[in-house]
Amino acid sequence: MNSGKPSLKSGPGSAARIIVFGVVQGVGFRPFIFRLARRFGYKGWVKNIGSGVEIHVESPEPADFGAFLEAIQDEKPPLARIERITSKRAAFLGLSDFEVQKTQAGESFVFISPDISVCRNCLREMKDPKDRRFRYPFINCTDCGPRYTIVKALPYDRPQTTMAGFKMCSPCAAEYHDPSDRRYHAQPIACPTCGPRVTLRQARTGKEIAGGIPRAADLIKKGKILAVKGLGGFHLVCDPLAPKAVSRLRKIKDRRTKPLALMARDLETLAKYVYCSPEEKKLLLSPFRPIVLLKKKNDIPGIAPHLDEIGIMLPYAPLHDLLLEDIPLIVATSSNQKDSPIMKDEQEGIGHLCDYILSHNRPIQMRADDSVIKEVRSTPLFVRRARGYVPYPQKVPPQLESSCHILALGGELKDTISIYKNGYVVTSQFLGDLDEYQNHLYFEETVRHLGRLFEVKPSCVVSDLHPDFHTTRYAQTLGIPHLQVQHHYAHVLAVLLEHSLPPKTKVLGVAWDGYGYGQDGTAWGGEFLLGDMHGFERFAHFQYIPLPGGDLAAKQPWRMALAYLHKMGPGMLQKSSLLDDIDPKKIRAVLAMLEKGIQSPLSSSCGRLFDAVSALSGLAPPENEFEAEAAMRLEAAATSRTGAVYPYQIDGGKTALQISFMETIGTIIKDRERGTEPSVIATKFHNSLAGIILDVAGRAKNSCGITTIVLSGGVFLNKKLLVRVLSLLEEEDFLVLRPVNYSPNDESLSLGQIGYALARLKPGEFLSA
Ligand SMILES: [Zn+2]
Ligand SMILES: [Zn+2]
Repeated sequence: MNSGKPSLKSGPGSAARIIVFGVVQGVGFRPFIFRLARRFGYKGWVKNIGSGVEIHVESPEPADFGAFLEAIQDEKPPLARIERITSKRAAFLGLSDFEVQKTQAGESFVFISPDISVCRNCLREMKDPKDRRFRYPFINCTDCGPRYTIVKALPYDRPQTTMAGFKMCSPCAAEYHDPSDRRYHAQPIACPTCGPRVTLRQARTGKEIAGGIPRAADLIKKGKILAVKGLGGFHLVCDPLAPKAVSRLRKIKDRRTKPLALMARDLETLAKYVYCSPEEKKLLLSPFRPIVLLKKKNDIPGIAPHLDEIGIMLPYAPLHDLLLEDIPLIVATSSNQKDSPIMKDEQEGIGHLCDYILSHNRPIQMRADDSVIKEVRSTPLFVRRARGYVPYPQKVPPQLESSCHILALGGELKDTISIYKNGYVVTSQFLGDLDEYQNHLYFEETVRHLGRLFEVKPSCVVSDLHPDFHTTRYAQTLGIPHLQVQHHYAHVLAVLLEHSLPPKTKVLGVAWDGYGYGQDGTAWGGEFLLGDMHGFERFAHFQYIPLPGGDLAAKQPWRMALAYLHKMGPGMLQKSSLLDDIDPKKIRAVLAMLEKGIQSPLSSSCGRLFDAVSALSGLAPPENEFEAEAAMRLEAAATSRTGAVYPYQIDGGKTALQISFMETIGTIIKDRERGTEPSVIATKFHNSLAGIILDVAGRAKNSCGITTIVLSGGVFLNKKLLVRVLSLLEEEDFLVLRPVNYSPNDESLSLGQIGYALARLKPGEFLSA
């Protein structure tokens, strides 16, 4: 950050050379400096340089540039992130104007801004009957509008965006070329005369019907299902208070229980249904406009069954603001059929999913789902990072900088890719489960697109250790050096990179999730890794339990309950009667499978422990419709205030400590038989897991002097567990790091993989720091 109050000595005809470091390119920074200089009456120029922006300012009068420097900090564009400002006196040149200099090709790593919600100034104009963009749904300016989803290539200029086909009218062109206008170089600039237009069509016939946006709102109110084209793709929209429409939408999407996101006109509307803290309000209102998961107040049946939170967002495209004028609350769920990416064109078959289509003719270049966030102790916790946040770059610690370009491909479920160039990592939007063919195409489309956009020529590629992942096989086809990283280690590395921890700082990484390929070929998942950027050892892990039926064990939580009962010994098998909604024939078949050890690979999974406990508490569905459903129901149930815990056991294994849950499960069963409330069982279980982390952290501190704990892996999307762990560890003075700008789930693997490669490049390949 800027140290102290910058100020320069004044004199007749003073001038200064200012360099601003950080994320200041592609975020409207140069036009901002231009307007600022004009306001101060300064002459000079501004241009992009390798690591930031360079400014020459001068004043014919004696001047103190301190106020100018402060204004840069205070008024910077919403997306700019300033790391440091340097300033020194420069020769007075007697310039007559202030100009924005063009970026030369290849001069620097040019960033592209994420898509930004419509700003206040544009909204005001849109609602002003005298404005020429009155009620125009594609209004935007230098501070707002589509970016990442419309860029085809760099430099970021109109002909390289999907706006290329729209010829600016002369009033738009005048604004575009006027450096003092707030639409100076706003590439998607448009108006009703020259820009994109909205159409409303019947889905079945494709016939255009009159009435536009107000008619669309009317159709939603009448119980129809609409596809609405936004920034990164189509939403499927209906009235959340119309149960028939909601259940039809669920049928179309083939989702019985998976939560549906809502969009509310404003904070007053959503306050009727959910609780919302000041921090959550800030997230909802931020220019990135994520879906925020909020605690239910008055439940709307059918929107998020069995869970205690609902995901809600505020309008982000001007089109949404106009649509919600007439209906205050809509379901706005991404328009994909099960296991496919969000649709971006009518040609992809959107007409089969709805009654009407509210579309427009500004093409989407890159799809992006809505981002999903929870707020945990005033800090975001990303459930999904996509629209609004991608492709915001991550700076790497200077010791790790390299002149090589790197491509990292992530894992398989909830995949992202990352690229590294010139000290920055860009991580893609959430791409989904690559085992699905359509998602795999989306993955390849994104690898090509980001590579081209940022002009990355990777000298190595990084993937997961899993030999059968699509990403691993894809890496093998590229014909460049290929590194593979253990899954849970990549989780820990992502956090080390994000928090710029010095590469030799040793931490205890608590990496808990469903499944990742282990170094011994088994399925790891409840891991404590001791290490730094350069290597790790397995310090402790959950005891291995068979997964009866392999992948099926992750879908049917009761299978894991049986696996634990079987492991606890023959005397426990009669307790399978607790799984009273499961066909006894199926139970016998799975028990036989466990007995013979067939199709039962071993795993130390934490996710599967949650499944077992959720099933034995009577909370899990017979089959998960979506990943972690049983675990999320267990979390939702944990509402008791009890501080009680269940017993567990930690034994010194050959190489690492082993944590056994036999006693935990045994006591949970006793509680259940005693008629203990599920809320108490669920809370005690969460307390126990937090206690285990504190216990193992204490052992790592005693044996190796560890004081920094990293929490990552999909299990840490569990807010109740996370909050409990944070307070226990901080009470004992541990420094606790967790992902803040990335999701703790497998979306962060590709970022960690970049860290792995950077820490292993030969010294000759390092740039001088
Ligand atoms: Zn604007
Ligand atoms: Zn125009």
